[in-house]
Amino acid sequence: MLYDALERTKEIRKIVCRNNERKYYRFRAARFYGGIATADCVGCNLNCFYCWSFYPRNNPEKFGKFYSPEEVAKKLIKIAEANNYKNVRISGNEPTICKDHLIKIIELIPEKFLFILETNGILIGSDEEYAKALSKFKNLHVRVSLKGATPEIFSKITGAMKENFYLQIKALENLEKNRVSYHAAIMIEFADNESQEKLKKELDKINPKIFENLEFESLMIFPHIKKGLRKL
Ligand code: SF4
Repeated sequence: MLYDALERTKEIRKIVCRNNERKYYRFRAARFYGGIATADCVGCNLNCFYCWSFYPRNNPEKFGKFYSPEEVAKKLIKIAEANNYKNVRISGNEPTICKDHLIKIIELIPEKFLFILETNGILIGSDEEYAKALSKFKNLHVRVSLKGATPEIFSKITGAMKENFYLQIKALENLEKNRVSYHAAIMIEFADNESQEKLKKELDKINPKIFENLEFESLMIFPHIKKGLRKL
């Protein structure tokens, strides 16, 4: 049965957010973006079949430990400094789930580092205040990962109701309106020419530059992904 990502958010928050702490399962140096200090968080409000981090996503009770924003920021800065990186991020599952925790971490990251917020955008689309809170940071860039180019493809990929697709689009609108630095990304495998045209129409209503700057990424085919692809 299809689920509502906002309802799922409430459930997942009960498990992975505690006071101003959040669960994380790993801290690491990663090669993306020319090198980036990475904290891998636990818990997501979507259920993408191609998720590379599906063990913590499916088992949030079992994975990770709670960390305060101060502890996370300290670890990220330490990894970045040790490796001479300019970028930091939270990855693994969905970083926006515990809002106050995330905002506090970004506040604690010195401006010499760029914080790259990789998100599915659902919560930024459901609450313009989220975009407003993000707009105060100069050293922040948001990358919204679109789960398919149409509501139908979104629903097939995530198992969520089609209407949730528009929260991803709304996230882009809220970021644009609040002048946050951002761009959108999509898996090329889920965006054929016809669906790209439909997506372009949606995005052009906000700003034609979003489609012009759309990042096309490619799927990494792990064994569990092959199975999911067959069902599409
Ligand atoms: S939004 Fe990201 S973390 Fe969440 S299920 Fe999809 S791929 Fe995984």
